Amino acid sequence: MYWFRDGISWHSFVHGYSRKVWFWFFGIYMLRSIGVSLGYHRLFTHRSFKCHFFTQEVIHFFGAMAAQGHWYDWRRNHKQHHWDTEGPWDPHTPTKYKGIKGLLWAHMGWLFFEVKEPPNAEVIFALGRENTTMANWRWDKTVYFLGMLSGFVLPFIFAGFPGLLLAGFGGVVVSLEFTWAINSWDHFRLVFHKKGVHGRTVKEQSKNSPLIAIPNFSGEPWHENHHRMASVAFLGWRWWQIDMPKWVLIGGENFGIFWDINRPPV
Ligand SMILES: [Zn+2]
Ligand SMILES: [Zn+2]
Repeated sequence: MYWFRDGISWHSFVHGYSRKVWFWFFGIYMLRSIGVSLGYHRLFTHRSFKCHFFTQEVIHFFGAMAAQGHWYDWRRNHKQHHWDTEGPWDPHTPTKYKGIKGLLWAHMGWLFFEVKEPPNAEVIFALGRENTTMANWRWDKTVYFLGMLSGFVLPFIFAGFPGLLLAGFGGVVVSLEFTWAINSWDHFRLVFHKKGVHGRTVKEQSKNSPLIAIPNFSGEPWHENHHRMASVAFLGWRWWQIDMPKWVLIGGENFGIFWDINRPPV
């Protein structure tokens, strides 16, 4: 039972974690970030590149580690966000409330309420209903379940309780915070943040956030780029805009793992 020698959780918390535990923290954090951005967002939601079914499920597995729910729900909420950005049907626009309250709503407040579905049946269908016809639906749920669990079980097996605490739970919290920051901070106006008229502002107000792009290297913080052309597979359009999944795509393309990558116009 080496994890007791390694120090139980509280001991590690006070005296510092070993290099092995930090390795698992960064390793799984990286897989979670790339999995959600490349899989949930760029592949399942926007279909901005193509790959083999096996590759898709490997990325899906890593994305599931981030514990952000099944990609089917993720996709539906996100498509609704693109369809009516800052409008009454946007699940997490900060313009729903004035000032900081709007920021908190967009960050995590919206998660505690049921997302209001548009009244038009055709729109609801366009927002992702076709996925219910997926041939491998049961397989898909199994991959999600195993992936989500692995984000906690793997660091526990290889790095004991400290691994579970830091890489498992700590890592998932950090990963969620940086995902939610895109919904909140990247749609928030620091000065004179106003509530939209009946929830609707004049225009969508996404922005690029270079500061968030460093700790969140998933490329997602280049959110204005993404709103300009959602079907583009790269979120960092310039060479200096950090976007790790972009490099995964470019590298994989050379080996024939990815193809038909929709590139930005710049
Ligand atoms: Zn957005
Ligand atoms: Zn998107």
